[in-house]
Amino acid sequence: MSDPIFLVAATLLGAVIGSYLNVLIYRLPRSGEEKFGSRSACPACGHQIPWNLNLPVVSWLLLRGKARCCAAPISLRYPMVEALTAILFFLLAWSPPTGLAMTVLNLSSAAVLVFVLHGFFVANLIANTGIDWDHRILPDVLTKSLMVIGVIGALLVPELVTQLEALPARVPASVGSGLSSFWGLLVGMGLTWSVRNLARMAFRREAMGFGDVKLMGGVGAFLAWDGALLTFFLGCLCGAVGGSIHRQFSKDPYVAFGPYLALAAVITLFFKDPILVFLTETWPEWQQRHAASPWVLVVVGVLCTVFLYVLLRRGRAH
Ligand SMILES: [Zn+2]
Repeated sequence: MSDPIFLVAATLLGAVIGSYLNVLIYRLPRSGEEKFGSRSACPACGHQIPWNLNLPVVSWLLLRGKARCCAAPISLRYPMVEALTAILFFLLAWSPPTGLAMTVLNLSSAAVLVFVLHGFFVANLIANTGIDWDHRILPDVLTKSLMVIGVIGALLVPELVTQLEALPARVPASVGSGLSSFWGLLVGMGLTWSVRNLARMAFRREAMGFGDVKLMGGVGAFLAWDGALLTFFLGCLCGAVGGSIHRQFSKDPYVAFGPYLALAAVITLFFKDPILVFLTETWPEWQQRHAASPWVLVVVGVLCTVFLYVLLRRGRAH
């Protein structure tokens, strides 16, 4: 476990970054309208917000969800994004996906560098989720930076991704991890691109955007090829279930795929190894001991395929 001061610092950092992500989600799709460096202003009346009313989560609670300037309601989403980012940063520090513990006494250790890169990964996914949710786009600046920083990060910090097993031993660790990251990028993009084109041929309309393809490239760069496969699989599973629920409660036929891929990527980031062990060892062993179990798999598989078919057939709105 990382040291307690690091845990507190990481959580506070997460809350502050979450606050910035709210600004990014609001302003990035509207860029040109407002400058990024400008002070925060109330979206309802344009009044400038003083720093003490702009603290993550705390200010929303103190103001009870109403702007002080004009009493306009402030969406619950702002404190939720801040809290979510803080919680994920806490988890990255408390239970680092690489197993490397961190301390404030050594901020240049590989563990801290991996924490910074994973922090960027998680923050980027949250921004993509918010913008895809609101505007049905995954901005290039977010998805491309995920790909570039994933591969460069793996070259500089070999602990970021698992090494490719097929490489000869004399290949330096940094080159090995860089290649692993780049291979993950290709697998993530290639897989999503193939499924996208198959769905387009089958349904004659856009089922996934090219933004999803680029997002999965970035996910592969951070989580390696097996992480990209697992993310896509879990994303389809979450999308099939979540999309069906979404349809029941919303008249909008459009289901954004980005948020489900982002959710699946975070699950994979923390639980890749246990899930892969379950799928490749625990489950096949269980199957050998129980004769009826293949039917369970067939039923679950058919249900998911039907859900996904309905989801993809409805397609994107544009
Ligand atoms: Zn106002």
